[in-house]
Amino acid sequence: MEGDSVRILLVEDEEALRVAVADSLRDEGYRVLTAAEGDTGLQLALEEKPDIVVLDVMLPKRDGYSICQELRRLNLSVPVLMLTARGLVDDRVRGLDAGADDYMVKPFSLAELHARLRAIARRLQSAANKPERIAFGDGVQVEFAQRICSRNGAHVDLTAKEFGVLELLVSRAGEPVSRDEFLDVVWGYTAFPTTRTVDNHIARLRQKLERDPAGPEHIVTVPKAGYRFVIEE
Ligand code: CA
Repeated sequence: MEGDSVRILLVEDEEALRVAVADSLRDEGYRVLTAAEGDTGLQLALEEKPDIVVLDVMLPKRDGYSICQELRRLNLSVPVLMLTARGLVDDRVRGLDAGADDYMVKPFSLAELHARLRAIARRLQSAANKPERIAFGDGVQVEFAQRICSRNGAHVDLTAKEFGVLELLVSRAGEPVSRDEFLDVVWGYTAFPTTRTVDNHIARLRQKLERDPAGPEHIVTVPKAGYRFVIEE
C-alpha cells in the first residue's frame, strides 16, 4: 500500500487548491482522483474505491459531513481526512462524529498533509499485514488478536502499546522499522510522543521477552534505521 499503489480521492471545490494538492500528491507517488462537487465526490468514492479520501467540508451539492456519513452508513471503512476551513471545536467534533479519521484546518502546509497521509497509508499497510501469532526465543508465545503473551508458560503482562510495537516488528520481520513508522502506526498522528518513547517501549519489550535484554537476539537495533525483528538468530 505504500507509494504508488495508494489511491487518493481528493474532493475540493476550490480549483487552485485542488490542483496544487493533487499535483503535490502525484509528486509523492500517489495516484490521485479528484472531484469538485460533493455528489460526484461521493459517486467516485463508491465506484472507484480509493484507499484514502481527502474531503473538504464546504462543498457544492453535498457537504463533506454528509459524504462521510454516507460512506460509513454503507459500511465503507476507507480512511477519511477532512479539510475544514474553520478551526472551531464544533467543526472538528462534527467531522469526527460523521466518521472522519482525522481533520486538518485550512490553511495547511502540503508537508503536513503529506505527513498525515503517509501515517494513514502506513496504518493501512500494517492492518493488511497483521500477524496472528508468533513463537520465538526463550519460550515466548504471543497471540496478537487476543493480546496474550506468555514466556515458558508464564503470563507476561504487555501494555497495548507494547503489543502494538511488537506486532509491527513481527509484521515486518527481517526488515528495519523506523521510529517514525512506529509513531505513525502505533501512536497515530494525533498524539505527540517523541522517538524516545519508541526506544523506551523497545527497552521494556526486551526486558520482558529477551533472554539477555542487554544483548537482544530478536528485537535488534539497526543503527540509523530503527529496529528489526529476527525470528532465529
Ligand atoms: Ca470548499
